[in-house]
Amino acid sequence: MQPHSLYLHIPFCTHRCAYCDFNTYAGLDSLIPAYVDALILELRGLAASAPTPIPVHTVFFGGGTPSLLPADQLARVLDAIRAVYHLDTDAEISLEANPGTLVAQQLDQLRRAGFNRISFGVQSADPTELRLLERGHDFIDVIRAVQWARQAGFDNLNLDLIFALPGQTLPRWQRNLEHALSLNPEHLSLYALSIEHGTPFRAMAGRGLFPLADPDLAANMYEHAMQRLNGAGYEHYEISNWARRAPDGQPLACRHNLQYWRNQPYIGFGAGAHGWVAGCRTMNVLGPAAYIERLHKPEAAFDFPRTPASLTAQRVDAQRAMGDTMMMGLRLLEEGVSDGEFAARFGQPLDAVYGPAIERLEAQQLLEHAAPDRLRLTVRGRLLGNQVFQEFV
Ligand code: SF4
Repeated sequence: MQPHSLYLHIPFCTHRCAYCDFNTYAGLDSLIPAYVDALILELRGLAASAPTPIPVHTVFFGGGTPSLLPADQLARVLDAIRAVYHLDTDAEISLEANPGTLVAQQLDQLRRAGFNRISFGVQSADPTELRLLERGHDFIDVIRAVQWARQAGFDNLNLDLIFALPGQTLPRWQRNLEHALSLNPEHLSLYALSIEHGTPFRAMAGRGLFPLADPDLAANMYEHAMQRLNGAGYEHYEISNWARRAPDGQPLACRHNLQYWRNQPYIGFGAGAHGWVAGCRTMNVLGPAAYIERLHKPEAAFDFPRTPASLTAQRVDAQRAMGDTMMMGLRLLEEGVSDGEFAARFGQPLDAVYGPAIERLEAQQLLEHAAPDRLRLTVRGRLLGNQVFQEFV
């Protein structure tokens, strides 16, 4: 069986930020112990129902705020994974953390438990922007958290930043990026703010309480990041992600996210988690209380890849799997989509399935062929990715 990735969703936050549309809840911390028990039940039940043992090469605890869980609870979950999955000895094991929610001792415990990558939700270094986003930390918290993580032995850190914030100027964005670079992260994820339906941000923007970012300014911010990070030795390997190489030359791209972009299998555990396993797209029930209840029912049944928490498990036909492979693979800027790998996987070459679309996009200088058999976005295509991806839906 090919290596799988495991995603574990931790749907708890101390406060719900005004721009957030993730499946996460404030004020439900009392559910955490029962939630961890339910996660372990789901992990064990799924492994027991699988036809063969599942090899695993990445594990990602995302949220929400996974760093709100006590380190010993996170270690318990990791031990449960080790007990029932074939976890690679050099597996990438990541934790998303909010600066200000972790102290030095927890970071030590997490490192000892086997976590080897931390992704900090920094978002901005500017106090006004952090207040606008309703984040509970300041940049001093970030500096401290990174320092503690380094002392604990973490040598693979990601920092998330958001650009195109309301009222943000190019110089302010440049300062944010410089602050992040001063911490020497191995990896950076940079996202343009997206104002999602149903969020307080959307309502405020609708009432004209703050100006929406100008798309040209957002493009300038992105272009600045590309140039600056290239100059600082980071490889721009995915539309929103940059990574340095380790001293041994190994790229420090996020291996877990590469699994998604390569459309390879991953299993989602926890409330609202999505999976792509055994040819099915799965999605779990959203609410943490409902999730706990489903896993604890005496008659809870597992029917691989379904678990008692599954809301849906839909078989994906070849047409959709090919479209997903294109849409996600083209996000990988150097790697793109390999004709040979595509043909080996789907039994047809790219041209046979998408010839006219590829020709159209090449004529618009949005796609290009890279040696030896790779199709990828052009530099212009990076800025117009959605226009390209639509062709493969
Ligand atoms: S901390 Fe992150 S997941 Fe939690 S509410 Fe804020 S943006 Fe959403």
